[in-house]
Amino acid sequence: LDGNTGDKEYVGFATLPNQVHRKSVKKGFDFTLMVAGESGLGKSTLVNSLFLTDLYKDRKLLNAEERITQTVEITKHTVDIEEKGVKLKLTIVDTPGFGDAIDNTECWKSVADYIDQQFEQYFRDESGLNRKNIQDNRVHCCLYFISPFGHGLRPLDVEFMKALHEKVNIVPVLAKADTLTPTEVQKKKIKIREEIEQYGIKIYQFPDCDSDEDEEFKQQDLELKESIPFAVIGSNTVVEAKGKRVRGRLYPWGIVEVENSAHCDFVKLRNMLVRTHMQDLKDVTRETHYENYRAQCIQSMTRMVVKERNRNKLTRESGTDFPIPMGPAVSESETEKLIREKDEEVQHFLHL
Ligand code: GDP
Repeated sequence: LDGNTGDKEYVGFATLPNQVHRKSVKKGFDFTLMVAGESGLGKSTLVNSLFLTDLYKDRKLLNAEERITQTVEITKHTVDIEEKGVKLKLTIVDTPGFGDAIDNTECWKSVADYIDQQFEQYFRDESGLNRKNIQDNRVHCCLYFISPFGHGLRPLDVEFMKALHEKVNIVPVLAKADTLTPTEVQKKKIKIREEIEQYGIKIYQFPDCDSDEDEEFKQQDLELKESIPFAVIGSNTVVEAKGKRVRGRLYPWGIVEVENSAHCDFVKLRNMLVRTHMQDLKDVTRETHYENYRAQCIQSMTRMVVKERNRNKLTRESGTDFPIPMGPAVSESETEKLIREKDEEVQHFLHL
């Protein structure tokens, strides 16, 4: 239609969603996924199965002795995946060593620090000069692997999730689901969901769907919510099942197919991550987790500035004759640098 046909005139902004889409298609998408949980639960295998890549070619596995002394380290792998002309830059953040030591109290700490550091970097870049080309390394989602062999959550699981739930979108998964019968999977899921509730753990919430959404969509949404924790199976081998070649695990009594939804929730998880909720995971990261970090940062900077001011006022009023050094200390600390950089924002908060 053009404006002169007598029918309804229109401006053309109806194509906006498409434009946004086209622009991001051209630029490519990026997504950062963290995997956490005890080693040996199948994290690397699952990541490889999810994205059909071999992200862990160069991984060196440590022996028991080496693992005792190892602290949790954070590793990052990036791959560019292209599908039908759409590019995705995927970053996987792994936490080898998690839960491996004899004393694992606070082993969530380095993971929390890592997430904070990415926020801090973004916060700095955002207030710097080159705001157009910020490299965004914020973690959008954390798949937390729960052992299928325990009775529900272990203390370490509770501790980890509680320490991280305000920093990152946690999606719990029940690892190696092929080691459990369907009834056991169901029971475990219910138990874990109850414990998550009981301990006040705030995992990633799928956004509620609108009441005007069609029935099929609502059904899907409900199924998704009831799948938590996603029961997953990973495999790096392709086997033949009923004449078809599939990713699966071959046992003497049969084949477990990774992508068969009667066998596990792998497909549901992949669809959620890649097709339906990737943008929401990024939005929640930006609007909730990063905003929390930023607000806290500004608050503590404001407090420091107020303290500094009061101190300066006191020294001025005390009427000493010595020149008291007022400038920055000899080595300017990181926080003080941040204060300077963000002074404008602070002024605003002080209502000067
Ligand atoms: P990570 O240390 O958590 O990264 O665990 P890996 O991916 O290295 O897997 C550890 C072991 O578990 C390997 O021998 C895998 O073949 C096996 N494994 C991985 N995924 C599964 C699964 O879904 N089911 C079963 N039964 N074994 C698995």
